[in-house]
Amino acid sequence: MSSEHATEQTFIAIKPDGVQRGLIGPIITRFEQRGFKLVAIKLTTPGKEHLQAHYADLSDKAFFAGLIEYMNSGPICAMVWEGRDAVKTGRTILGATNPLASAPGTIRGDYAIDVGRNVCHGSDTVENAQKEIALWFKEGEAVSYKAAQYGWVYEK
Ligand code: GDP
Ligand code: MG
Repeated sequence: MSSEHATEQTFIAIKPDGVQRGLIGPIITRFEQRGFKLVAIKLTTPGKEHLQAHYADLSDKAFFAGLIEYMNSGPICAMVWEGRDAVKTGRTILGATNPLASAPGTIRGDYAIDVGRNVCHGSDTVENAQKEIALWFKEGEAVSYKAAQYGWVYEK
């Protein structure tokens, strides 16, 4: 495997509305087709305490209780995606936090309207990605493999 940050990992989650609306396939497809590699995936309902830890930096916001209720309302599809610039590009693929400000072609810009039902989560920095991956997945749960398409996606 080449270096040059092709192993950067980001935590991407399909929120309960995305799962219930049958958007797991379309969302995974966007990351796959872009060339990113799926290294961990599970459906999980981790509970309020876990969700409060995930969104700890937003605990003083007026929408926090509603956000936790929303995130706790059904299964979440938790994933780790790997590839060059995966964190920043993952956010671009997701679109803006408020779907009404998201460009068409982004996940939120194509599938969502309300900020409180914006179907997906993506880490905002490499440091937060590492924290979130450690919160949602056990050590060793993410697999390591060379994707067959590697040389067709990356120049080096
Ligand atoms: P993200 O990183 O783009 O997901 O945005 P933030 O980290 O700022 O917020 C986390 C999540 O909280 C968002 O994805 C929304 O689901 C929710 N959220 C953010 N701002 C608002 C808001 O003003 N109202 C409501 N109801 N939810 C919000
Ligand atoms: Mg965020």
